[in-house]
Amino acid sequence: MDIKKERTLVVIKPDGVQRGLIGEVIRRYERSGLKLVATKMVIPTSDFVEKHYLVDPEWMTKTGNKTIESYRKKGKNPPSEDPIEVTKIVLENLKKYLVAGPVVAMVWQGVGAVGIIRKITGSTEPLTSDVGTIRGDFTIDSYELADSDGRAVRNILHASGTAEEAEKEISLWFSPEEIVDYRLINEAMIYDVDLNGIME
Ligand code: GDP
Ligand code: MG
Repeated sequence: MDIKKERTLVVIKPDGVQRGLIGEVIRRYERSGLKLVATKMVIPTSDFVEKHYLVDPEWMTKTGNKTIESYRKKGKNPPSEDPIEVTKIVLENLKKYLVAGPVVAMVWQGVGAVGIIRKITGSTEPLTSDVGTIRGDFTIDSYELADSDGRAVRNILHASGTAEEAEKEISLWFSPEEIVDYRLINEAMIYDVDLNGIME
């Protein structure tokens, strides 16, 4: 595969749309140099949300462990010691969260797209997402508050975790015809070996 064509899926969740952050999110990703190759607004169904999260067979374990570790770091007890049990509750809450209203799905393409989008997005829990990331700058939620209120953490975005996960998620959200193969003038400045054609 051409490494300049790595792709990742981003979904602006209902809170991101309702808080008027569609433009801000696109602005931040777009100025990185990555290329937007697909986008649409949809209202997902509960079944679709489940399919989306379960495309990665490791997701339940990884997410549960991340949550348990975050509770421990704060000296608090997680809702359960079993990562699968923790994530089962998260998944039920995610279904309610993501069907609440329209979301904006996008595919971003370019070298290192998955990692770069995750870096700009910030880590999952707003309480500890770095300042300067989208989640760090625009959200204040925590696992503890969300768990005690029985809802998913409101962190504005979904962004694929790995290139493999991304390809599976993209094929779930977009048909091949919805993904546009085009050249962006900016790419010459990012990738081309010779910067010919700048001077008159
Ligand atoms: P992401 O890849 O950074 O979005 O994180 P995950 O894939 O691990 O989790 C998916 C989504 O579930 C997150 O973006 C949060 O909205 C939500 N979530 C994850 N872990 C927890 C948790 O422990 N408690 C609650 N309430 N929500 C969670
Ligand atoms: Mg994830």
